[in-house]
Amino acid sequence: MAYTLTCADTGAPCPGNFTTEGKDELVEHVMLHAERAHPELAGNPELGSMVQTLIKQV
Ligand SMILES: [Zn+2]
Repeated sequence: MAYTLTCADTGAPCPGNFTTEGKDELVEHVMLHAERAHPELAGNPELGSMVQTLIKQV
């Protein structure tokens, strides 16, 4: 089982897609990506909970 998140689901025009074995690892990847690619999202205090709702199990 793996966890996946599609960056475009946040509403950002971004082709980013992340898949990891662990949920915590995925959140870590997404947060790093947000800081680099989406500083406006990274500064949003809602980002953490938004990321949680966008994670899908595959
Ligand atoms: Zn992105």
